[in-house]
Amino acid sequence: MKNIAEMSAAEAAGVKYILMDIDDTITCEGKLLACSYDALWKLKEAGLKVIPVTGRPAGWCDLIAREWPVDGVVGENGALTFWEERTGAFPVLKAEYHPNAVRNDHPVLKKIRERALKEVPGLRDAKDQFARLFDIALDFAEEEPVLPLASAERVRDIAVEEGAMAKISSIHVNIWMGKYDKLSMAGRFLADRFGWRETGGEKEVVFVGDSPNDEPMFARFPLACAVANVEKYRDYIKQLPAFVASKECGDGFAEIAEIILARRSFSYKRGSTASFSRANTANTHSCRR
Ligand SMILES: [Mg+2]
Repeated sequence: MKNIAEMSAAEAAGVKYILMDIDDTITCEGKLLACSYDALWKLKEAGLKVIPVTGRPAGWCDLIAREWPVDGVVGENGALTFWEERTGAFPVLKAEYHPNAVRNDHPVLKKIRERALKEVPGLRDAKDQFARLFDIALDFAEEEPVLPLASAERVRDIAVEEGAMAKISSIHVNIWMGKYDKLSMAGRFLADRFGWRETGGEKEVVFVGDSPNDEPMFARFPLACAVANVEKYRDYIKQLPAFVASKECGDGFAEIAEIILARRSFSYKRGSTASFSRANTANTHSCRR
């Protein structure tokens, strides 16, 4: 991984879509930081399409699509996409569910949950389970006790043994029936909603993430980035992203956004009478919660 400061003006100028994980990518210790939320606004105001891609539930995605400065949200690790459309005076919330998505009352998920809770001491249901439509989420690190990653891997292995899909985020193990992931639904949404070219459009997308469930996105997009806390999962991710921030979590996301916007500004101004300010691209970002 190269430091994000090494992203070139030409690379930044070609970006149209900024996709980002939520937990431990734009949040820090469970809170959405002022600097990372501000970065979402700045990216959107710069004309980029801003789309969170998260393992968080449908119930959260309703709020995110309606209230955050975003152009849509992919939730439950790719089971669904919510976005707003404005044809009249008021925006209308639209939803698409992945054609392979299966509701989370499936008997195999019930069996996996029972096995995992029995075989992995300290594991518990995620508190946001009530807001989920298609997956079950088992908490190993959102609340106490924080379990080792080996426990999360054991849960994932149980799920896979039973025939389900499973991904480990920085806080939960998400388990679902049906073949889809963050990448398949994000690509589908970009193509259907914005006419993104699945072949040839890879460098128009910057994805920012932090953990193993982001790996399909890291692998697909040549300008993918991670926040610095990805180091914690280095041994668990085969395909790391091209770039990494020097800062962790939401501070790292704000750093990435600032550098991309500064590089784009430089690219647009080049050749004009406007002079390029070195300070605009230096990693001067600092934020406090
Ligand atoms: Mg995360």
